[in-house]
Amino acid sequence: MSDAQVRPIIRRETLKRLGVAVGAGALALVMGPRRVIEAACSKKPRLARYAMLVDLNRCIGCRSCTVACKAENQVPLGVFRTYVHYLEEGTYPETKRYFAPTFCNHCSEPPCVTACPVDPVKGVYKTSRGEEVEYERRATYTRPDGLVLMDYDRCIGCHMCVKACPYGARFVDPSRKAGGDPSNNTVGKCTYCVQRLDNGVVPSCVQTCLGGALIFGDLNDSSSEIAKKSRKAKVWKPKEGTKPNTYYVGLTHEAVLGEEVKS
Ligand code: SF4
Ligand code: SF4
Ligand code: SF4
Repeated sequence: MSDAQVRPIIRRETLKRLGVAVGAGALALVMGPRRVIEAACSKKPRLARYAMLVDLNRCIGCRSCTVACKAENQVPLGVFRTYVHYLEEGTYPETKRYFAPTFCNHCSEPPCVTACPVDPVKGVYKTSRGEEVEYERRATYTRPDGLVLMDYDRCIGCHMCVKACPYGARFVDPSRKAGGDPSNNTVGKCTYCVQRLDNGVVPSCVQTCLGGALIFGDLNDSSSEIAKKSRKAKVWKPKEGTKPNTYYVGLTHEAVLGEEVKS
């Protein structure tokens, strides 16, 4: 490399460093040096807030989502993590049919978690950037990215969480014993396919959906499709105060899911 090529790079680097120093100095003048150091140290980890959006106008009721979920998560016969309701409205011949897929809503205020009597322990969640975030972990718990999950090893099979869920999203798992008390069976529910999410892959139902009715993503990413579409979407049973993270578009009839809805 000749001198002529080296000099501009050095000049650029020098100017860049000078700019950083001047910028830090200016910030220190405005905020005070202590607050500048505090601001640099308090860099919050970037957490996702996972959510699902169901567009009922696109759902064709094929139940591929249910089958894909069963296959991915080895869901036993007779119970479902994803269920598509077939609903009818009106009187013959003026009738309409609707399809409404339902999952665990991964609520932000989940009564199933507060109902769990198992003592909480400290959990550590690692973000995709390697940042560590501590959280409280009962036998069922909310992970810092919003997923409501189960710890089968600590579950005592009391089924309080099943009773506490106003959506019927949990079931007693006929195929799995509770680690905390193997004389009981533990509980199953949708996890938004956590094993896939942690490897950067969307839930199985979303990947399989034939109608393109399911959108999954991060609400904390304001540019994501789900963040934009969920602003005008509705949630199921808003009066329960659970703050669901599963949204519905086209949920206009009280008959659908048997409850009024709100924007
Ligand atoms: S839908 Fe039910 S099981 Fe899922 S988080 Fe909400 S209350 Fe809990
Ligand atoms: S069944 Fe398990 S997860 Fe549910 S409330 Fe009881 S101990 Fe907690
Ligand atoms: S796979 Fe998609 S289109 Fe088929 S029932 Fe499920 S949500 Fe509806």
